[in-house]
Amino acid sequence: MPMITNKFGNCPECGEKWGHGDQYETFLGQDWWKKTMTQEQLRKEYEGKQWSHLIGIEVHGMYDGVCEWKCPFCQTRWSRFTGEKMRVRYHIQKGSRMYMRRPYCGYSSDNKPAEAETMFEALEVQKTCMKNNPGVGWDIYDADTGIIILPEEYVTLLKRERGY
Ligand SMILES: [Zn+2]
Repeated sequence: MPMITNKFGNCPECGEKWGHGDQYETFLGQDWWKKTMTQEQLRKEYEGKQWSHLIGIEVHGMYDGVCEWKCPFCQTRWSRFTGEKMRVRYHIQKGSRMYMRRPYCGYSSDNKPAEAETMFEALEVQKTCMKNNPGVGWDIYDADTGIIILPEEYVTLLKRERGY
């Protein structure tokens, strides 16, 4: 999966252009720089730099900085660390009965498992579920295979998410 390296190019999903407008042109019409630099210095600093529509998402408690990029046109999100497109990867459900690491009984009260796109998010959801409904053993499952993820695998998945 390619990383989002060009924040001014076209969205790989919807094709919309993220870059818009030259920063030098914008600042030329403003006054804030006139006290500290000449127009030539402003040009050197900002000419050719564009504004971008791409949105950087910071996830509090996970990383001090951008964790995900989001296209404002199609809402697609990508991990900043792996370049992978965000999608539902984990289900969180009651783990009352297990067979070969697959649940065969034990959904949430609405019969739908809670969903998470990242392990970080899945752990947050699990924490909330345990607080609201303790004693039923909330587990995290791989959304594609339906196989339970063992607690000793959480850290590995968290690290993979951050691109370690
Ligand atoms: Zn897009």
